[in-house]
Amino acid sequence: MQLSFNERQQDLYGQFSELGRPVALSAPENDKVCRLDTENWQKISHAGIWRLPVPTRLGGAGGSWLDCVAAIEGVASTAEDLGFMITMLGHVGALRILLYEGTPEQQQRWLDRLMSGEIGITAMTEDTGGSDLARMRVAAREDEAGWRLSGRKSHITNAPVAAFGMIAGRIPSLGDKRDIALFFVDLDTPGVSLGRSEDNLGIRTSPTADLILDGVPLRLNNIIGTPGDGLRILCDIISFERALYGVIASGLIEGMIKKAMARVESRWAFNRPLADYQYVQGRITDMKIAATVCRFATYAAFGKIESKTEDASIACSIAKFLAGEHLLASAEHLVQLHGHLGFMNNDLSRQLRDAVGMRIAGGTSDIQRINIFNQLRRLNKKPVASPLAVAAE
Ligand SMILES: Cc1cc2nc3c(=O)[nH]c(=O)nc-3n(C[C@H](O)[C@H](O)[C@H](O)COP(=O)(O)OP(=O)(O)OC[C@H]3O[C@@H](n4cnc5c(N)ncnc54)[C@H](O)[C@@H]3O)c2cc1C
Repeated sequence: MQLSFNERQQDLYGQFSELGRPVALSAPENDKVCRLDTENWQKISHAGIWRLPVPTRLGGAGGSWLDCVAAIEGVASTAEDLGFMITMLGHVGALRILLYEGTPEQQQRWLDRLMSGEIGITAMTEDTGGSDLARMRVAAREDEAGWRLSGRKSHITNAPVAAFGMIAGRIPSLGDKRDIALFFVDLDTPGVSLGRSEDNLGIRTSPTADLILDGVPLRLNNIIGTPGDGLRILCDIISFERALYGVIASGLIEGMIKKAMARVESRWAFNRPLADYQYVQGRITDMKIAATVCRFATYAAFGKIESKTEDASIACSIAKFLAGEHLLASAEHLVQLHGHLGFMNNDLSRQLRDAVGMRIAGGTSDIQRINIFNQLRRLNKKPVASPLAVAAE
């Protein structure tokens, strides 16, 4: 398990934290109009962030996923914009699927475009509910003209600005038990359209919309992995994304701490700076503990994903749970430490609005608890090797 950066990752963290700074400047305006900062998205993409985990033979930098995570953490540490980070999450999910499950033909068709900054989606949620994914109804059926995909995905990050991406659905003809499949689709294909761009409480710099699929023609290379094996692939992607939330929360909280420190050193009450008061100090130490815990939870979870340990899914849910809870608590401290200034409609309160969405996107905090318990139960039921049998070997 790697809990600290190597030299290359330290450099990447530094390089991408510089590139995150301008995102913070544009976030207030983008928040007002629900707009992604596409200019800085392109700059960060062109700096090679999406190439980091991709082998050189596929046009990448030949690094590791941890390189990419260090770069994402760098952006989070200065961007002050959870929406921008959530857009990165949706994109990186599509990248990981294509890298691990795509055929050479699929990689040739989409990988370079993803690495160059064309935006991807990972679409799972439907109006049947995001928590209970097994109820999804988007389905591919064959008629005389060939295979067609129909249905509707809800609240999909990047949908209004994306070029393509992964859509989870079913192939009912495979039978009830293993009919989930993942489709990779260009969003300019006939039959694909968008619902209205959503007017959300927070994370507004990452546009979301429904994706409407009306008889979208499919070819064999639109299916990722073995048809019917979609749930297994989804589990990997969902786990990876859950783990990532930890460093995103950590980076954003570190930014909040800087703001909070500046405030409490400069604001005086009762003849002393706020920083002299223990209750005030307690809020900031809680924020620092939160940032540290979230960060280590991510790297611990990645260690388990990489080594394929059987409790990896628990570690990923813990990272997501901690990220959601701690980001919200830290954003509230930030607002509270600024008194009425924090309560005004500004950058401080925007971070609190954004943080509310962190507990919902990517699976709610309650769903993380459920997964942690279910996984514990599963592991607990596994037969333990008898000491006598081990001694006899
Ligand atoms: C900013 C943002 C971006 C998003 N981007 C994407 C995206 O790119 N792709 C995508 O596929 N989805 C996306 N989503 C959707 C997100 O994944 C879902 O909103 C989330 O999984 C919850 O699903 P739901 O909204 O349908 O709530 P529901 O599933 O209806 O849940 C409602 C409430 O009931 C609780 N609940 C449900 N079941 C149980 C249970 N068994 N026990 C206890 N409590 C339970 C939940 O915790 C929640 O509090 C995004 C959401 C947000 C907020």
